[in-house]
Amino acid sequence: MQLLFLGTGAGMPSKQRNTTATVLKLLDERGTFWMFDCGEATQHQILHTTLKPRKLEKLFITHLHGDHIYGLPGLLGSRSFLGGDEPLTIYGPVGIKAWIELTLATSKTHIKYELNIIEIEEGTIFEDDQFIVEAKLLEHVIPCFGYKVMQKPLPPELLIEKTDAFGVPRGPLLRQLKEGHDVELADGRIVKSFEVTGKPKEGFQVTILGDTKFCKNSILLSKGSDIVVHEGTFDLETAELAGLYGHSTIVDAANVCKEADAKHLIVNHISARFMPSDIKEMITQVAHYDFPIYIAHDFTEYDWANGQLRKIPSE
Ligand SMILES: [Zn+2]
Ligand SMILES: [Zn+2]
Repeated sequence: MQLLFLGTGAGMPSKQRNTTATVLKLLDERGTFWMFDCGEATQHQILHTTLKPRKLEKLFITHLHGDHIYGLPGLLGSRSFLGGDEPLTIYGPVGIKAWIELTLATSKTHIKYELNIIEIEEGTIFEDDQFIVEAKLLEHVIPCFGYKVMQKPLPPELLIEKTDAFGVPRGPLLRQLKEGHDVELADGRIVKSFEVTGKPKEGFQVTILGDTKFCKNSILLSKGSDIVVHEGTFDLETAELAGLYGHSTIVDAANVCKEADAKHLIVNHISARFMPSDIKEMITQVAHYDFPIYIAHDFTEYDWANGQLRKIPSE
């Protein structure tokens, strides 16, 4: 799994930061990617990456402010134009369906793939054999959701030296053992799955929050997450503005993570008022927390493997 930040700005684009779009790359896990929010010009940002719009499988919209949705119609149209024919599902608050449908109809944008738009409520909004996605309402100036993606435990590794020791022949029995079933050998002996497999591997948990002030639901949703992506529109000096506009400071974001016992924090949705030198100052305000904290920039990408988060060096 990788997290790729296509846009990390707040409100409107600046030369440094486009508006919000965050990609959860699941190419190894399911051959697709998921996206959280789709600010204006997200499809332009995609052009600078290796992402293929047809591999976009799910789009989660946190709320209906323009800096989170204005990139949708263009991306949906291009995905069709580029030959994407796999279904796409969009999740978001009430109003998202009418807005998308009206925009596509008015602009005569014909989409050749199956487009499902699901207006969500709090709770489990998606589950299959690999993943569960949960949503909770945050505290912003309009209804705004946070999403938690939980990967289910991965099947344990089959230990071939053990199956050999039991005399299990190579073939379909090995697969049954790997999938957790006990098998009977030709001579009547029973081999139990747990005797020849390793420990099941825990899946990852990533919480991606929308615009919000410091709130209880952010903490509840982030509980135990490996990675939390939290907005940090403001810093300590501009904390008053955060309160006024339903946003957070980087310190609020760090406090959510701390209360939630989350392992890593990535801060996005940074106000255009902050210049690169201010960003260095911003990170010092959270230097004393005992978990890693990163401020994402456009196109920064993080890789999650074996319980470790690593920033992928940019070229
Ligand atoms: Zn915003
Ligand atoms: Zn907003």
